[in-house]
Amino acid sequence: MPAPYTGRCACGSVTATIRGEPLAVRQCWCRQCQQAAAGGPTHNATFLVAEWEMSGELAAHRTPAASGNTLIQSFCPKCGTPVMAQSSARMQMASVRLGFLDEGHGLKPDTAIWVDDAPDWAVIDPAMEKFARQPPPPVPAPRQGEGD
Ligand SMILES: [Zn+2]
Ligand SMILES: [Zn+2]
Repeated sequence: MPAPYTGRCACGSVTATIRGEPLAVRQCWCRQCQQAAAGGPTHNATFLVAEWEMSGELAAHRTPAASGNTLIQSFCPKCGTPVMAQSSARMQMASVRLGFLDEGHGLKPDTAIWVDDAPDWAVIDPAMEKFARQPPPPVPAPRQGEGD
């Protein structure tokens, strides 16, 4: 399903409408994601923050990353639904948790990252592109009809 995408947390306090298409849809096995996702990976669609409206109060947990940047994981303080993750180096984009998006979004990860941190029993789709650790950040493609 193409944009717009809509999302809501389990209790409905946080909602979003996203007008743009994702820059990337990835599965992440880093330790912070395993902590957020009950031992599995998180699944995330990276969107430009300028292309959405989000309403409701978010709580955030900040973790220093090895790169020196800060990982900011946001969630609903009332129901705990993970909403998104951001890097302090790239606050113009955010990786929205696929579970936050309403059913029928049709997005599916094509890349698995931080697979070095995945547990032995992890089953990772062989069709996915894999990165041992952090890949380069997604590059916003010029939108059709812009820039000319
Ligand atoms: Zn909630
Ligand atoms: Zn992660």
